[in-house]
Amino acid sequence: QQGEPYFLPTSPHFLVLVNPHGGTGKALELFQKHVIPILMEADVHFTLLVTERPNQARELVRDQDLSRWDAIVVMSGDGLIFEVVNGLMERPDWMVAIKKPLAILPGGSGNALAASVNHYSGQQQVMGTKLLINCSFVLCKGQPQPLDIVSLTTLSEKRIYSFLSLAWGFISDVDIESEKYRFMGSIRFSFGTLVRLTALRTYRGRLSYVKDSTLSKTKDLDTITNNPSSDNKCPVIQTDGVVKEELEDSLLVPLGQPVPSHWTVVQEDEFVLVLALYQSHLGADLYTAPMVQNLGEGNIHLFYATSRISRGSLLKLFLSMEKGTHMDTEIAHLVHVPVKAFRIEPLQNTGIMTVDGEVIPCEPIQGQIHRGLGCCISA
Ligand code: ADP
Ligand code: MG
Repeated sequence: QQGEPYFLPTSPHFLVLVNPHGGTGKALELFQKHVIPILMEADVHFTLLVTERPNQARELVRDQDLSRWDAIVVMSGDGLIFEVVNGLMERPDWMVAIKKPLAILPGGSGNALAASVNHYSGQQQVMGTKLLINCSFVLCKGQPQPLDIVSLTTLSEKRIYSFLSLAWGFISDVDIESEKYRFMGSIRFSFGTLVRLTALRTYRGRLSYVKDSTLSKTKDLDTITNNPSSDNKCPVIQTDGVVKEELEDSLLVPLGQPVPSHWTVVQEDEFVLVLALYQSHLGADLYTAPMVQNLGEGNIHLFYATSRISRGSLLKLFLSMEKGTHMDTEIAHLVHVPVKAFRIEPLQNTGIMTVDGEVIPCEPIQGQIHRGLGCCISA
């Protein structure tokens, strides 16, 4: 079912979406000043669309003919890419549409995907204009690469597609509560961390996961979603008239049922934080999953800290995360496990849950990784 690998043409035409309110509100100015000269030099053509409201980008990529553009470039934070991914997955032809190459230029305050792409390209961890210029070069010199997508299902049967993270507890609290310090740019996360540390909260819930995809419910794993082409390029899918209505999650059973018996259920039920992360960076200066080397490895890195973790350990965790050294020595009551699927069942409806930095209702949720389902320009 897989066709030829996807390559960008020599003079590509990009659709560029800019969120003028991303980050400190300078995205459009920065695009004009720093990005346009690089695109001109590289003989890249583009159509610029400045978003006017939330969900405009989502509706646009859901409803429009995408064949006019060779890639969809997003200059914003992770929130606008999240809109684009979900808009593509809402299309009747999602199976083809999700292979449309995406690209990220950091223009928000949460620029985790941009920082990850910068890292995979072999560059040093940088922020601000330096990160923007690096990502502009990746956009012009890179090629489409498979991008992992996690398909999430909530108790109310809502499907959400995620390219970065799911967070519950400390991390999502900081992300959302620090919105009021938006004027600070990405510093808001460090500042918010210190504020939240002084008033630590714990959350009750059940966490379960499965490490291995070979023991799936059905033996026949979806060949498209779990076997990206071996040459590490985004394949162009030929559907031959076979249209699947929805992406199938072969590892999951309905949320109303207990997890399958070969899953692991975490014994403790009081957490300070739960984080599922699939890329290397959780923010421009948060090198949270140093083990991740590219966009399409097919692993969910599950991190959780139980209520027994001390404030000192948490502080140490966040301070050492900038350089990624938090994984070098063991931190008591912090666990890391690479998984293929997981389930979180909050026992009270408290706390903030975020997907790719966007708030979702706090309710039972589960998800599984689809290796290389999406496509993103990278080195
Ligand atoms: P940041 O990292 O600064 O938060 P994001 O890309 O995550 O930047 O964007 C934040 C939110 O802004 C997203 O939920 C997105 O849907 C929304 N958004 C996009 N365009 C606009 C707009 N023109 N006005 C207001 N909000 C917008
Ligand atoms: Mg955001």
